[in-house]
Amino acid sequence: MAKIFCVANQKGGVGKTTTTVNLAAGLAKLKQRVLLVDLDPQGNATMGAGINKAGLAASTYEVMLGTADVAGARQRSESGRFDVLPSNRELAGAEVEMVELDNRERRLKDALAAVDKEYDFVLIDCPPALSLLTLNGLCAANGVIIPMQCEYYALEGLSDLVNTIKKVHANLNPDLKIIGLLRVMFDPRMTLSQQVSAQLEQHFGDKVFKTIIPRNVRLAEAPSYGIPGVTFDPSSKGAQAYIAFGAEMIKRIKKM
Ligand code: ATP
Ligand code: MG
Repeated sequence: MAKIFCVANQKGGVGKTTTTVNLAAGLAKLKQRVLLVDLDPQGNATMGAGINKAGLAASTYEVMLGTADVAGARQRSESGRFDVLPSNRELAGAEVEMVELDNRERRLKDALAAVDKEYDFVLIDCPPALSLLTLNGLCAANGVIIPMQCEYYALEGLSDLVNTIKKVHANLNPDLKIIGLLRVMFDPRMTLSQQVSAQLEQHFGDKVFKTIIPRNVRLAEAPSYGIPGVTFDPSSKGAQAYIAFGAEMIKRIKKM
């Protein structure tokens, strides 16, 4: 059965999508079977995996509303060698339409149960909000990966996310835990980065992943080609870091 992870942080632009796409590609390189679920109406992970978000025959939207199943809606990222449940702006409507439905927090969990056995990892790219969509991600997951930039405001908002995770754990999904904080866009030349990074280690101990993702322009360039950074320039520091992160995740799930 697949281990399911949400990549979440309600802050915008902190590296959620870059992490989801490149961890998926990194794990695929390490011979893991991966499904990436794009749970963000922005559809950035879909595009970053090389799938055109315009005119999708079926997407996360239909799956959440129960009019398509994952097996019918998923597509293959040829550049990343993983499967993708794609999304586009239609998904924003699901937020409203799901309110009327039964089991509205567990729509994604129920849908994923049908393909569970086909994958080692399911990675869910969450939107930058603690919305009903994100709640569906948290209900479906075994764990949460929280990407963070090591900057002055990094910890701001983290307590809201942690409280939401605690509530979901208590009321909806006893399986859910924070797997770890991932330091991303790290600039070792900045004293502030070093300081915040050290603070994170002090406060959160082994909840901080060992792997650090550096700021690397190749990771930022890759999405415009529809290729994960890991395949776009495998020798770049960013790609290497995400492959190392993949290896760290494989180790982690053996202990779960
Ligand atoms: P949103 O909240 O809008 O969904 P996000 O949290 O998914 O954003 P990304 O889209 O992954 O964040 O990243 C934001 C921007 O930072 C993008 O332009 C991306 O290319 C860039 N970026 C992310 N990680 C890195 C990195 N390690 N090095 C350089 N640029 C990066
Ligand atoms: Mg994103």
